[in-house]
Amino acid sequence: MPLKTVRFETYERFLNYLTKCRDNETLNVDETPTEAADHERAHIEKAEALGYTPVYAVRIFTSDGLTPVDIFVDFPNEEPTDSHLIEICLAPENPSEGDLEIVQKLRRES
Ligand SMILES: [Zn+2]
Repeated sequence: MPLKTVRFETYERFLNYLTKCRDNETLNVDETPTEAADHERAHIEKAEALGYTPVYAVRIFTSDGLTPVDIFVDFPNEEPTDSHLIEICLAPENPSEGDLEIVQKLRRES
């Protein structure tokens, strides 16, 4: 199935989207929409503090538009340095498995 990336510039729009997915029973995470959005917000706030302009992003199946396959923070305007990316990944209180994988990979490469 084809995938596309949708970006959200504000926390409110992002949370609103995740809530719609939850109501549609297609939010594929163990957390509530607010918990999922707050986790991403921790990444966003750290990135902003480091001087970047990140956005909330989801990869979705184009079929219904309400099936997020991947939830992440996107940097449409710049590429963070590896050390900044590590800080951004570790910003939430409970970094996800995916966050920790990125950190391990970056630390191996540096
Ligand atoms: Zn994360």
